[in-house]
Amino acid sequence: MDPRLSLMESSSDEMVLKGIFLPFISPSHLVPVVDIARIFAMEGVDVTIITTPANAAVFQSSIDRDCIRGRSIRTHVVKFPQVPGLPQGLESFNASTPADMVTKIGHALSILEGPFRQLFRDIKPDFIVSDMFYPWSVDAADELGIPRLIYVGGTYFAHCAMDSLERFEPHTKVGSDDESFLIPGLPHEFEMTRSQIPDRFKAPDNLTYLMKTIKESEKRSYGSVFKSFYAFEGAYEDHYRKIMGTKSWNLGPISSWVNQDASDKASRGSRDNKAKEEQVEEGKDGSWLAWLDSKKEGSVLYVCFGSMNNFPTTQLGEIAHALEDSGHDFIWVVGKTDEGETKGFVEEFEKRVQASNKGYLICGWAPQLLILEHPSIGAVVTHCGMNTVIESVDAGLPLVTWPLFAEQFFNERLLVDVLKIGVAIGAKKWNNWNDFGDEIVKREDIGKAIALLMGGGEESEEMRKRVKALSDAAKKAIQVGGSSHNSLKDLIEELKSLKLQKLNA
Ligand code: UDP
Repeated sequence: MDPRLSLMESSSDEMVLKGIFLPFISPSHLVPVVDIARIFAMEGVDVTIITTPANAAVFQSSIDRDCIRGRSIRTHVVKFPQVPGLPQGLESFNASTPADMVTKIGHALSILEGPFRQLFRDIKPDFIVSDMFYPWSVDAADELGIPRLIYVGGTYFAHCAMDSLERFEPHTKVGSDDESFLIPGLPHEFEMTRSQIPDRFKAPDNLTYLMKTIKESEKRSYGSVFKSFYAFEGAYEDHYRKIMGTKSWNLGPISSWVNQDASDKASRGSRDNKAKEEQVEEGKDGSWLAWLDSKKEGSVLYVCFGSMNNFPTTQLGEIAHALEDSGHDFIWVVGKTDEGETKGFVEEFEKRVQASNKGYLICGWAPQLLILEHPSIGAVVTHCGMNTVIESVDAGLPLVTWPLFAEQFFNERLLVDVLKIGVAIGAKKWNNWNDFGDEIVKREDIGKAIALLMGGGEESEEMRKRVKALSDAAKKAIQVGGSSHNSLKDLIEELKSLKLQKLNA
């Protein structure tokens, strides 16, 4: 072999930018980090995603397709540690995770730090993109002398609002949990109540230490990546950079950027993705499509509360009545229904709405991206999870907002008060994940918000115009020359020049 050839090969190989992506083990963190990894691979970066077997099963088919498309991307699977009492295959925090398994999964995850760090050393990447829930990865990247980018779930808006709460503590200056206060120091004025903000702001709890550690690791990171787009929350993107003092790149909407064909959309986030893709390829992708095809444009309400939520049967009952009473057609992702009372109730309701042809129930994982882009969908009822918010806005759909936990009450304010593309259902109390407290949102309140949004009045028409403009901006953001496209290009160039500096040094 000509020695000059091998030198040329090795030097050009050395110049390929190599990144590791470490997603968290819950669907709504896993799915976007994988999407981000895939857009890096689209731009010629050599990508390795590190995860565990059950989590890899959620996205591997898309990675296989990307390889066929000629992209340099792979998954490195690490065995999930065996912890006494934890059944094999239980490797994720989601709506089906039994409450008594949460600590065990957390324990197994902490054991993985060692193997993950070892992989970083073996793979020798030029940079790491890590989920916020691995704060230790900032030290691991330091040891290797490479940049660590943090993936921060949620909106810039929510992060800025939470920073304001920490800095100014406006919630300590009101007389009761229901008295509203302004969140100070932000680009817009909006109000919240003490009962709507996460508990950790009111008194230290088991999340306080973790969130503090995450914020410190965020500040020590080379920068952060987000998944919205400048036209959506640009003022807060700028504000975030100021308060954090770090760099940040906004790369969304990533879901539509990377999932451009029906197979990727159909399988996104689902463990039985093979079956879903085959249905799409054979043109028989489930009866939900035929049902939606039979409906008028913009006439159907899509109702979904994300990947983490299981309402109690009483709350499901209120939703069911509200949907039926509204007179509008709806597609409702009910989620897990394998427990006695809930199962019976849902089956009964499903029979009724099948007979009236007014509703379609999905008792499992819905192909959300495909549903949202269907022309018959007219609006979305959401818990304000950040992914669903961006996906709905991207699809040009106004929202009924029903926040439950995490940063969702902040997202509601962005949609309702700042962007004016959402109608609040009137949820009053923040709760921990899957703890519904004693608040049941009544059918009348759900019905009012649905009527306002689907009723075709002036207010709803104005919202539709605004969200359509945002949807157009979302499409532009990911095209060549668009804000998110430029962000990704800039970030990759910056990472390449860091690599070059290191090589020269
Ligand atoms: N999702 C889906 N099908 C479902 C439920 C959820 O495809 O049946 C996807 C949805 O498209 C989104 C994510 O899962 O990308 C949910 O994230 P979100 O931030 O909206 O809510 P979370 O799951 O964090 O509560």
